[in-house]
Amino acid sequence: MPKRTGSPQATRAWITVLPFIVLLISAAYWRTSSEPQLPIALTPVTVQTRLTTTVPSPLPASPTLTATATATPTCTPTATATPTRTPTRTPTRMPTPTPTATSTPTPTPLRPTPDGVLRQVRVPILMYHHIEDPPPNADPIRRDLSVSPREFKRQLRYLKQEGYESITLNDLVLFLTVGKPLPPKPIILTFDDGYQDAYTQAFPLLQRFGFVGTFFLVTSFLDAGNPDYLSWEQVQEMHAAGMKFEPHSYDHPDLRNRGFQYLVFQIVGPKEAIEERTGEPCRFFAYPSGRYDQFVIDVLRSAHFWGAVLTEQGALHTSDGLFTLRRVRIHGGDDMDAFIRTLNLEW
Ligand SMILES: [Zn+2]
Repeated sequence: MPKRTGSPQATRAWITVLPFIVLLISAAYWRTSSEPQLPIALTPVTVQTRLTTTVPSPLPASPTLTATATATPTCTPTATATPTRTPTRTPTRMPTPTPTATSTPTPTPLRPTPDGVLRQVRVPILMYHHIEDPPPNADPIRRDLSVSPREFKRQLRYLKQEGYESITLNDLVLFLTVGKPLPPKPIILTFDDGYQDAYTQAFPLLQRFGFVGTFFLVTSFLDAGNPDYLSWEQVQEMHAAGMKFEPHSYDHPDLRNRGFQYLVFQIVGPKEAIEERTGEPCRFFAYPSGRYDQFVIDVLRSAHFWGAVLTEQGALHTSDGLFTLRRVRIHGGDDMDAFIRTLNLEW
């Protein structure tokens, strides 16, 4: 005969404790269901507030949290679009733009975690300033900074014929940090200061030859509506056509030996101003007149920049030198022989 599993005493004991068990389960269920539920459409601010209030610090590195953090730009509730900063702000809490400015559908490249491999590649980053016939009274510096539209067109035609393909600085860093392949003959075309001729001369020629230009803007000139420089409307039009825009400071000062707040004003303010117009994160900075120190790099890193370009000559880039990317200066008055010689120098 099979042995019974319950005796009358055991049954009585169960009857006695059963109401308590039911009570406990009900209490637990009530507690769970009364927790506020996450709304479906979370804003980044809401996520951050919830995480910081409900999850003990440090946050566990769960896949869900990581995915949320990378899919949406993080920002603090106190972040504003103005370059003014409170003294309590620390470099690690730099604001990134709000996702509301989406004037164009340009996809934002998300960078995978750098894999730590040391890579090196030769990519000429051409540095232009004016694309114009210099005014008759131009001094030697202005003439050197001014490549005539005719000459610029010849240079672009040459690059096209030789099979060069323009890439962006994002592409370069993606190669250096995670090995994302580059085309066989990559080249990057950069234009400093955001002069008006970037729109009237450079832009149509770049489009004609199918090249992407990266334009470094001094944003106070645009804010002031200075007619010698691009307007914000032109920036938006060019960006919609595939051109890239990155900050070159607020008003082009020497950034060496500066305090934290001053650098935030000169770096993060312009970054946000551009991002609000283009809807695309800025990841690169051009040091005004090529001047920088280690603290400038520290602030750039903490503000989520991926790299910065110099005015020093060079075309060889390594994955441990992303904030000292050298460029190839194109001088006004250079003929095609000089241009080709510069392009092909190994260094
Ligand atoms: Zn400049």
